[in-house]
Amino acid sequence: MSEELFEQLLAGDRAALARAVTIVESVHPDHVKIAGELIKKALQHNNESVRIGITGVPGVGKSTFINSFGSWLATEKNKKVCVLAIDPSSNRSHGSILGDKTRMEKLSILNNVFVRPTPAAGNLGGIALKTRETILLCEAAGYDTILVETVGVGQNEYVADGVVDCLMLLLLPNAGDELQGIKRGIMELADLVVLNKADVTDKSILHQAQMDVTNALYFLPNKFDGWTPPVVQNSLNSDKNSSDIWDQVSQFIDFQKSKGNFQTKRNNQKMEWLKEAIRTKLEAIFFNDPHVKTNIQTASLKWLEGHESPNEIAEKLILNWKKEPGL
Ligand code: GDP
Repeated sequence: MSEELFEQLLAGDRAALARAVTIVESVHPDHVKIAGELIKKALQHNNESVRIGITGVPGVGKSTFINSFGSWLATEKNKKVCVLAIDPSSNRSHGSILGDKTRMEKLSILNNVFVRPTPAAGNLGGIALKTRETILLCEAAGYDTILVETVGVGQNEYVADGVVDCLMLLLLPNAGDELQGIKRGIMELADLVVLNKADVTDKSILHQAQMDVTNALYFLPNKFDGWTPPVVQNSLNSDKNSSDIWDQVSQFIDFQKSKGNFQTKRNNQKMEWLKEAIRTKLEAIFFNDPHVKTNIQTASLKWLEGHESPNEIAEKLILNWKKEPGL
């Protein structure tokens, strides 16, 4: 089954790609097996892709931007664009990403575009693991520009940065005071900053924001030696802005390649991928082991009675893993 599906995927059949992604996201044992075969095949078909993360607080305009930027890339640059989402935050009310189809209308009707909303929360193994696998399938299907949307709250940006080549942070220019509140970590992770909604922002505020953000970035430690993230503006549906932003992304990618950082980052991500795969597999084997299941029941009583610390219990459970039940 994986053979035929993969052939269709390679031929650019979007429905086949969607089916393959669903299989990769599934935890059903039959699917896990097919997913493994698909990924193995996809690894032989890597193309020269660019993976871009797009982050920012809910309402900053991520979906709107992806719609126009993605459409511009697909029509003006002849790119095959894939749009994915990472949303590990438990509080889904923060804005279900890619959920609002109306903001992706222009994009999703294009032939050379594949849009994949966030899978339902709760049925995933590692979020980054599944996203990496999905990216690989999309690249095997010929998609050369991967846009990964993530809501800028908490740890999401770190997960996103772990699967992309370039992380773009969208900010609102009139959020002057908020700039103080933006977590240092998010700014430090950005390779490029976009001041969004320039069309509805007073010129003097925009100018001030440009200076404030540029200054803030100047005083932060460089994520990559020799690269200070540029600050660019964007207005609703502006092709000129899409073109400027693409120029900056391309300059960053060229810079990364010239310094050897591009491949190093991808290699590090591959190592993380392997570790995450091991962690996921180990966890599944451990918790499904009948001895462990029995031992956990005994251990939970001790834990509830307060006789032992969780660390002690965990250590015993792991040491006794392959032994007969009984702690
Ligand atoms: P997200 O939560 O970050 O994905 O934000 P959305 O893309 O859903 O946008 C939130 C709101 O801002 C929507 O009403 C958009 O129409 C509006 N919006 C987004 N980008 C712009 C922009 O560049 N200019 C203007 N005027 N409105 C925008």
